[in-house]
Formats: sequence, C-alpha cells, structure tokens
Amino acid sequence: TGANGDGSPPMPFPQPVKVQEIRHTKIFINNEWHTSLKGKTFQTFNPATGVQICEVEEADKADVDKAVKAARAACQRGSPWRRMDVSSRGRLLHKLADLMERDRALLASTTSSLLVNLTSVTSSCCCVVASPDDTFMCFTRHEPVGVCGAIIPWNFPLLMFMWKVAPALCCGNTVVIKPAEQTPLTALHVGSLIKEAGFPPGVVNIVPGFGPTAGAAIASHMGIDKVAFTGSTKVGQLIKEAAAKSNLKRVTLELGGKNPCIVFADSDLQLAVEETQKGAFFNQGQCCTAASRVFVEEQVYEEFVRHSVESAKTIVIGDPLDPRTSHGPQIDQKQFDKILELIDSGKKEGAKLECGGVAMEDTGLYIQPTVFSHVKDHMRIAKEEIFGPVQCIFRFKSQQEAIERANSTEYGLASAVFTRNLDRALSVSAALETGTVWVNCYNALHAQAPFGGYKMSGNGRELGEYALAEYSEVKAVTIKLTEAL
Ligand code: NAD
Repeated sequence: TGANGDGSPPMPFPQPVKVQEIRHTKIFINNEWHTSLKGKTFQTFNPATGVQICEVEEADKADVDKAVKAARAACQRGSPWRRMDVSSRGRLLHKLADLMERDRALLASTTSSLLVNLTSVTSSCCCVVASPDDTFMCFTRHEPVGVCGAIIPWNFPLLMFMWKVAPALCCGNTVVIKPAEQTPLTALHVGSLIKEAGFPPGVVNIVPGFGPTAGAAIASHMGIDKVAFTGSTKVGQLIKEAAAKSNLKRVTLELGGKNPCIVFADSDLQLAVEETQKGAFFNQGQCCTAASRVFVEEQVYEEFVRHSVESAKTIVIGDPLDPRTSHGPQIDQKQFDKILELIDSGKKEGAKLECGGVAMEDTGLYIQPTVFSHVKDHMRIAKEEIFGPVQCIFRFKSQQEAIERANSTEYGLASAVFTRNLDRALSVSAALETGTVWVNCYNALHAQAPFGGYKMSGNGRELGEYALAEYSEVKAVTIKLTEAL
C-alpha cells in the first residue's frame, strides 16, 4: 500500500490489530450515534472464519430521512459549513487524513484491504470568463451541489468511502453515505474521526443498511441533490431510474467491468505476466478493474500461459491479517458460490483449466487463484463479470483483431496494453473503449487522474479535478455595465 500520491515516502506497513476493538456500530447522524428508528440490527461476519463480528444498527427509510434532514440543515446558506472558506475545509480534510493515518492499523485490519489516499484540495470559487462584449462582465461561481447521497460496495470499503466523501467535502457539500451491508465497520470508525477532526454536525452522515431499503431511499430522496454510486451495473440502472423519477438528481455511476489486456509478442513478457496477474488476482479478483481477459499474441501464447501458471501457483493463500498472505477469502457465500459456478461453466464450455479452480478445504471462503487458457469469446467466463480470482487467457493473431475482441463487451472500465513499441501503445490506447488504459502496468491508480467507465461501466469520473466538477454546480453571473466606455 506504499505510495501516498503526494510524492512523500511510503509509510511502513502497520502491524495488524489481531483483536479488533469494534467501537462503533450505530447510525452516524449530526456527529452523534443513533439506534435504528425501527429498532432493527444486522450481523456482520469475518469472511476468513465465518464468525460473526458484531451486530450493527440497521438504517431504513426513516433513518435516511433523518440523515438527509441533518445534511440539509448543515448545508443551508449561512450555516458554519457553508460559510467556511475552502482552505479551512481543506485543513479539516487534512486533519481527518491525519486521524486516519493514526488509526491505520485498526482501519487496515478491519478492512484487510487498502490504505487510502485523499484527493488534493484544489476547488476554486470564481473565474472570469470572456464577456459577450464590453457592455457586459461575466464570471462563474463554483458552488456546492448540496446534499450528496453515496452508495458504496464492499470490495474496498474505506477507499470507496473516501473517493465519495473527500471530493464532496472539498466542494462544500454535505453527505449521506450508505456503506455496503457486508462492510459497515470501517465507515463507522471514520465517522468517529470526522467528529474528532471537527467537522460541523450534519456534514457527513452514515447510514449502514441494505440496498433495497436504505440504498433505494437515498436514490429516490427528494432532499438529495446528487447521488454517487459504485456497484453492479444492474443496481446502477435502478439508481438512475429512481433519480429520474424523483427529483432528477445528478447521478454518477461506477459500475462493473470485463477488462481486457492485450499482450503483444514484442512486450517484456515477464513484466506482462506479473502485471496481468496482479490485475487478475488483486483483492481476490474482487475488483471492478480485474484483468479478467488477457489477449496474448500467438507467437508467445504458450510461453505466457506457462509463466502465468507458475506465477499463480506461488501466490500465498491464508489469513488476511498475516502480512505474508497475498490472497484471502471471498467476501461472502453468495459471491463464493457464483465464482465456483462460473469456473464450472468454463470447464464445461471447453476452456482449459490450467490451475486452481477449486475452493480450499478449510474454513472461510477461499478460492484458489485460477488460470484458464484456450478461452473462446462466446464462453460465459469470457463475457460475464466473475468478481473472483479467475484469469482467462485468449490467443490473437493481429492487432486489429485484438482491439475488436477487447472492445466487444457492454463494459468499458479499464484495459491494458503490453508492448515495447510506443507508436503501437498510443494507437491501441486510442482505439480501446475504456475510461482507463494502462500501458505496461496494471491497476496503477493515481488520485490526480480521472477514473470512470465508458459504456455500461458508468457515467462521470472520480478522482482529481474531474471529480470536483461532479460535485460542483457552476453558475454564470453576467453583469450589465451601465458605464461601459
Ligand atoms: P451491488 O450493486 O449489489 O451493491 C453495491 C451497493 O448498492 C451496496 O451498498 C448495496 O447495498 C447497494 N444496493 C443494492 N441494491 C440496491 C438498490 N436496489 N437500491 C440502492 N442501493 C442498492 O454490488 P456488489 O455486489 O456489492 O459489488 C460488486 C459490483 O460493484 C461489481 O459489479 C463491481 O464491478 C462493482 N464495482 C465497481 C467499481 C467501480 O469503480 N466501477 C468499484 C467497485 C465495485
């Protein structure tokens, strides 16, 4: 988890907190902890052991209403948050970042995932634009959108939380965020840090709960001005529909992917093997950017498959809290069953299972890193998002064929090209229909670079200045000059 995104040296990896002290399990509204209005709770489990961690208060529509009321009051004109200048908001965000670094061992152990990078604070307020003629002056104001709803998935609970909350706060909005039902605890701990950092009450409100209840209440709420969603394409469609049918709130969507890598014979093959496997198996394949389709030029196909299999077999599977582990469990039984069913379909449809393909005979939801070769485009493993540790390797003859097959999907999130030829890297990057293209690398995310999808992988961009634009309204103010010369 090295780079901080700001050029500073990477922090040493913290020792895991073995016995997690869970301090926060309630709904976070107005900087206070609340029980569910309906008196409901839900359980949260450790996927490595199947053991219940604790019960969490369950937010429903009424709790979302309460959170929206708090967020609405906190962003009223004249409120302490609305009056606060952008540098003071920046200072609060940096204070929050410091507190998250202080608690990084607890946060990392709770998520067993990534530490987070905050986006830089660069929001500007006014900007003069060209006036129609000398008798007018025109300038723009960048204003907050208002109350921003956010609905996030379980695969990077802390990262997704900050990708939504940080740009929203930079731009002066308030937030009502629903973490995934599988992973509410990191978000709730950050709620306590938001209060400790000194954010005014109501600026960030956290409503742990389920999609069809709390999530749907956010998407259709008349008091929410924008909703940012990360999750499946199917639910993304529901969010957009609910937003359209309620108050036409602004919608940004980060959805699924079936991401292609194209490996040319002139590439550094060892590098291509390492990076494509990192892409396929990172976070047990539970990544919207998972490198699940690898197209390899025929001259180097057999060699690439052989090295990929050798590499997959060296992956250390085990307890996510053991620093030697690089491959942990899948999130829950539903995902676990879905992945094994897709692996089975690959075998039945005639792909060659090179390694893995089975669950570990242990407690916990472990699936071995799996490599399929001789995969054909019509197979289900070639078309459906697996969201598990499965790498599919295809053979191609020509550049044009590789591009067409790479683009032949409803998704368009990320892709990669491996070649030593710069001209080819640039022309193939231009031809790929994805929001991100990596050249000779994979999953190289930078907080300053925009991230988002083409086609059914989503709308809008997160990170960097593009994210700030998604969280701002731009107002043009035009003044008629009565004394123009
Ligand atoms: P999901 O869509 O089922 O759930 C995501 C979130 O939506 C959860 O908080 C869930 O409670 C909520 N939700 C579910 N039904 C809802 C409804 N009817 N109304 C409102 N909210 C609802 O997705 P998942 O299985 O949890 O996550 C995996 C999916 O997320 C994959 O498809 C993956 O590609 C995608 N994903 C995309 C990105 C990205 O940045 N593009 C990042 C991570 C995950």
